[in-house]
Amino acid sequence: MAVAVAGLGIPLSGWPEAAAPAVPTPPNHEPDGNSVIFDAPAGLIVMDTGRHDWHARAILALAREREQDIVAIVNSHWHLDHVSGNPALRAAYPGLRVYASNAIDGALSGFLPASVKDSAPYLDDPTVPEETRADMRLDRATIQRGSELRPDVVIHSSTVLSLAGRQFHIHLAPNAATSGDVWLFDPRSGVAALGDLVTLPAPFLDTACPEGWKSALAKVSAAPFRIAIPGHGAPMQRPQFLLYRRSFESFIDCSRSDRPKESCAADWAQAVRPLLSADPLEMRRAQSMSVYYVGLLRANGGRSKYCEARSDPKRDG
Ligand SMILES: [Zn+2]
Repeated sequence: MAVAVAGLGIPLSGWPEAAAPAVPTPPNHEPDGNSVIFDAPAGLIVMDTGRHDWHARAILALAREREQDIVAIVNSHWHLDHVSGNPALRAAYPGLRVYASNAIDGALSGFLPASVKDSAPYLDDPTVPEETRADMRLDRATIQRGSELRPDVVIHSSTVLSLAGRQFHIHLAPNAATSGDVWLFDPRSGVAALGDLVTLPAPFLDTACPEGWKSALAKVSAAPFRIAIPGHGAPMQRPQFLLYRRSFESFIDCSRSDRPKESCAADWAQAVRPLLSADPLEMRRAQSMSVYYVGLLRANGGRSKYCEARSDPKRDG
């Protein structure tokens, strides 16, 4: 059994079985979500496929090196830093099947075309770094072929699935980071792959329902995992995950109070400091991103404007 993680750009100390094609994101580029690769009797299962071609290439290189086919992709959610590599992996392994919630259908007619519109004015703006504009062009091209990102098998509810001869506990978290997040727990390795239910340096709340996200983190706590892999950031052990969960709840509570957003952000950054990388810029990013997200939540009654949960903001999800 082996588990590998791409996209972290860090050595995986304490992961004796892991082979890590570490692909750090170059400066000014948008991130790639982490990929987690599971080894099963009939091939490899890839959780999330990144945004850039270098990320997909690292996954394909790992499969070639191990002389194993990729037989399944599980997408944690439809954000482009997690699904854009699906077509490249499928081109190399035409028989693979993609498992995901159907939340991407709403995104293909809502958030994604809106983001194409929003990015248009910046494409030729010389004050925007060229790498960032290249990513905008990349994302626009990916959205144009958006139907190729959709799942072959829709996950409608939490279930136990046998993928390539290995059993995984697949969890559907409705109305969390997106309207349908998927996370999985692998009982054999004790690994939980959480997608963007855990992101650092801040929770990415752009399409989120905070209450559903909180319930998802509560459900993750109940799983007997040994290692949790976030969507962005380094692998965590249980105490680190629990710290993230507490910090997330306090951050959401603060966003609903009348405290200045800067002080919610300062509390967040201080709370998650032990989880951040040693790069001193990371604290600054934690702070500036969380200021932005408090503003985003407050502008939309405590949730993102893409939250589709029916109940009131205090009880969504
Ligand atoms: Zn992400």
